Amino acid sequence: MDVVDPSTGTRIETYEEHTEGDVTEALDRATETFDDWRTRSVRDREQLLATAGEVLRDNKREYAETMTREMGKPITQAIAEVEKCAWVCDHYAEYASTYLDSDPHPSPPGSTVETEYEPLGPVLAVMPWNFPFWQVFRFAAPYLTAGNVGLLKHASNVPGCALAIEDVFREAGYPEGVFQSLLIPSDLVDDIIADDRVRGATLTGSGPAGRAVAATAGEHLKKTVLELGGSDPFIVLDDADIGSAAETGAWARNLNGGQSCIAAKRFIVHTDVYDDFLDAFVDEIDSFVVGDPMDEKTDIGPQARQDLMEELHEQVAESVDAGATVVTGGEPIDREGVFYPPTILTDIPEGCPVDSDETFGPVATVYEVADEDEAVSKANDTNFGLGASIWTENRDRGKRIASRIDAGCVYVNQLVKSDPRAPFGGVKDSGYGRELSEAGIKEFVNRKTVWVE
Ligand code: NAP
Repeated sequence: MDVVDPSTGTRIETYEEHTEGDVTEALDRATETFDDWRTRSVRDREQLLATAGEVLRDNKREYAETMTREMGKPITQAIAEVEKCAWVCDHYAEYASTYLDSDPHPSPPGSTVETEYEPLGPVLAVMPWNFPFWQVFRFAAPYLTAGNVGLLKHASNVPGCALAIEDVFREAGYPEGVFQSLLIPSDLVDDIIADDRVRGATLTGSGPAGRAVAATAGEHLKKTVLELGGSDPFIVLDDADIGSAAETGAWARNLNGGQSCIAAKRFIVHTDVYDDFLDAFVDEIDSFVVGDPMDEKTDIGPQARQDLMEELHEQVAESVDAGATVVTGGEPIDREGVFYPPTILTDIPEGCPVDSDETFGPVATVYEVADEDEAVSKANDTNFGLGASIWTENRDRGKRIASRIDAGCVYVNQLVKSDPRAPFGGVKDSGYGRELSEAGIKEFVNRKTVWVE
């Protein structure tokens, strides 16, 4: 596996892929380890997780640099990502026992009926490169603490991150085999899911990858959780605080170089504040510093891969050919590495690529709508349903509109974000199942009914 630094376009490292024999050994190790790991108390597993959080904090600069080198995330954002991983470890170290406590049910006199939550076994996680630490900790912290063991197939452009994460668990004192990274291409994933020893699979990534994993898992009757793409609306109503909406909206679109499933992608703005919002939004976006991701002053680094930037630019170019107007940006930056400028498009023709597909990069579309109903209808006019953000000074109005949006999570006067305390996931083509919070830790468990007469 060749790793290319996207800020320079040069190869910086090559990793040997694991063979099918290595995968078999890893599966054997996972199964053996599970037999012991599942018998440990949740309290023991919580303590190990707390130590993993400390390992992350102690080495945050090193892990952050690995991310930045491999996929181009600005270093300050990479450090924040490692800190967030430590936070999810702290969260489940504190709450896993409570979340997994058995639940009593109404029962006939003289009987007790309870649900107990038991682990399922080895779970395969297929993960993307965009938040190469966070996506992994988001599954590993709850699932391992519930007593499962994890096998990670990370994206092929971040093998250094995959191995660094394995090291975090090793250094924290986890038994060998509780968490293993497999450096394999995606065409080995089907066989792993089909293997009897594997009890479930979770994938964060694109729709086609999600469909492939779900199809194989369905054939073999394995549980799946899918966290897929999004085209999140960001609704600015006539009573919004325009300054805050523009500032937060600019970050909501451009954090991580715009390569986020929950980035705000479609800005839907009430006609009464459209001009004011657009002016403020352009000012915010034009103030971003694009450049070397290792420089702490950089807001937007390179895109992660050349092919992905080309795809993004094709979406922009096709939409402009169809009639969209470029307000700012719109062409790859002429310099070494894979750089695309923060871009704003208006006059978006219905059904053009930036309107109907996910744009995975710093490209914002801005729509003008006449009223609240048109805003809701435009927000829901997508195959995706991950997150949505609504801006209004009237919190009741915000809540009322939130209930009309088809999405897994809606934020009023806030950008869409994942937080260990709140369930996270999508509807429609954005996937199914939930991560984080109590809902997340209960995705890969046997909800066993125990009736004692
Ligand atoms: P991707 O191409 O789907 O890759 C994600 C992972 O799936 C990688 O490990 C990839 O391996 C693997 N994969 C690809 N095709 C596969 C197949 N047919 N069978 C099994 N595994 C397969 O996605 P990406 O480009 O890395 O990430 C961007 C996408 O992820 C966007 O659509 C984004 O919205 C979505 N995403 C969603 C969330 C969420 O929480 N909902 C979070 C982040 C990203 P290789 O690298 O070896 O191809």
